[in-house]
Formats: sequence, structure tokens, C-alpha cells
Amino acid sequence: MKGMKRFRIDNLDWVNTSFLILTPIATIGLIAAYVIKDGFNPLMLIPAVFMYFLSGMSITAGYHRLLSHKAYKANKYIKFVLLLFGAGAFQNSALKWCTDHRRHHTFCDTDEDPYNIKEGFFWAHMGWIMVKEEDKYLDVYAKDLAADPLVMWQHKYYLPLCVFSGFIIPALIGWAMGSWLGGLAIVGVGRVVFVHHCTFFINSWAHMWGTQPYTDTNTALDNPLLAFFSYGEGYHNFHHFFQNDYRNGVKWWQYDPTKWLINIMNYFGWAYSLKRTSEEEILKAQLLMKEKMLAEHGADLSALEQLKLKIDETFRNLQELRREFRRSHSEDLELRIKEELKDFKAAMRAWSYSATQLSFA
Ligand SMILES: [Zn+2]
Ligand SMILES: [Zn+2]
Repeated sequence: MKGMKRFRIDNLDWVNTSFLILTPIATIGLIAAYVIKDGFNPLMLIPAVFMYFLSGMSITAGYHRLLSHKAYKANKYIKFVLLLFGAGAFQNSALKWCTDHRRHHTFCDTDEDPYNIKEGFFWAHMGWIMVKEEDKYLDVYAKDLAADPLVMWQHKYYLPLCVFSGFIIPALIGWAMGSWLGGLAIVGVGRVVFVHHCTFFINSWAHMWGTQPYTDTNTALDNPLLAFFSYGEGYHNFHHFFQNDYRNGVKWWQYDPTKWLINIMNYFGWAYSLKRTSEEEILKAQLLMKEKMLAEHGADLSALEQLKLKIDETFRNLQELRREFRRSHSEDLELRIKEELKDFKAAMRAWSYSATQLSFA
């Protein structure tokens, strides 16, 4: 526990701290000035919502899933757009953001985790951004990203880029709608503050409140309400366990607009090589968590042993078939995978049904 100990007045990063404190105050002042000067045009909320999605999803689809986790690949034009508007979210350059984020996954819940939730809500939410970087992390970046010319271009010109896409474009949109001040206040600064806290919540809220359907090996939790505000990133328990999957809300009905955006880009051929965790791995993780929960409630699991053996057997077969399929993409193998998956799911259903009949000690 060393994070909050570093939260001292002499150790504050004054640029970041001032920005985080002054932008909400500036939002109120600018909106007041706008209303007094030009009145309030409710239509100004349309570009504000558009920029909320564009800058926020440039973080979630770009900084997070594309660059930090390499969950899919994208052509250079998409990457350029994501880097340009990701800068407009004012969350640092992608190079720095992704390096911090990889540390978060590797050292989750420990002192080496930059936004370690064990230090409390405030530290994980924004406190960590307000203190000076420890010397040992200064200018230490992920090697693959430091070798990426587009990422380095954004890192080098981060300041003009974020002012351009975060403030100047919104002011120009406002100007086209009759008030540059309204654009700057609502589409620019106000939107930055809103996007800030929606994404900061992933490091705080999503490690404090929610459920653990897939793993309890770390503090990450699934939280559908948070997913609504964070472009789908609230399914954080799934994400921490299957971090290379391009989806966070893995079920088709789960609200994950970042996943839908990647799917749309994939349809047009702009995004490709989407990484998906196999269905059986996801279901098996859920089963192990249910099993744990039943055992904790004193259930006698011996009646499920035979059914579990069948699940394990079909799981192993599926994994072997998938390995073969990666070597030789044959139609025959595809069919066999489909058949085996049916058997696996039938075994899972039998287990789930019997689990409802268990007696508890
Ligand atoms: Zn996390
Ligand atoms: Zn992540």
C-alpha cells in the first residue's frame, strides 16, 4: 500500500491536478457565459453526444482493445482516427495510457498496479493521475507500441492534437450552429469532463461493485449499469479474465457499443483478425465459478462428479479439434467442432439441471 502515501502536496503533478479540478469549474463558467451571451440551443446536445461516443470509443476501441490488448487489427486510417480523437479525450498519449493499462492487468490489485483499487476508490478513480510518476516508470514504454510510427506520432504531437480534436473541433461545430462558445462549453470542455469520469469509473467502480461470473482471482467485476456509461467496458470481470477478446460484453444482448463498432469496422474490412474466446472456455469459467459458489454454500458436489467428467472430456476434445483446425482449416473439422460443441453444451445443461437438485448441508 504505497499509492495514497504518495498523495502529498509536494508530490502532486500540477498540470494533471489543475486540469482535473479546473475543467469541471470551467464547464460551469463556460455554459453560464454561453447561455447569457447566445441563449441555449438544445440541438447543441446532438454533437455533444456524438463527440462523447467518438472520443470515448477512440479510447475503448482504440487505446484499450486495439493497442493495449491487440484484440483485433485495424488499417492505418482507422488507427489514425482513433488516435486523433482519443487525444481529444485528454487521457494522455496512447503510448502512456497503454503502458499504464498493461501494468494494471499484469499486476492487478498490487503496489505495481498504477490504479490499485486496494488504495481506495479515490486513488483508483483519479488520485493516481494527480501525483508525479515514480522515477522507475518515467519514459518506460511498451516496446511494441514504441516501435509503432503512428502511436509515436500521436505521442510526439499529443498536446496540439488533443487541443485540436478536444476543443477546436467542438468550437468549430458550435460556430457552425451559431455559437462557438456553446460548442466549446458543451461539446468540448463539458464533454471531456463527462468522458473522463465515465472511463475513470472502470478503474474505480468496476473494481468495487458488481458480480464475478467468470473469475474471483482479482477484484474486477461485471456491472451492466457502468457498461451503459462506459461504451460496454463495464463487463470488467469478463475482460480481466479474457483480456485479449475484442468483446467485453460477450453475450450478444449485453450493451457493448465498442464491440458493435469493431464488428461494423470488420464488416467493411477496416478491422480484422478479431480475437474471440471460444464458447466452451467461457462456459467452463462460468461453471467453475458456480461450482465454487455451491461449495461455499455447503452443497455436496459428489452427485455431479460423473457429469463433470463428461464436461471435461468434451472440453478437451473441443480444444484438440480447434488446435487441428488452426493447422488445417477443413470443412470436416468445422463440422466435428459443431457436433462436439453440441455435446459439450448438453453436458453443461445436464450439470446445471442436477445442480438445482442438490441438497445443502
Ligand atoms: Zn481493471
Ligand atoms: Zn484492459
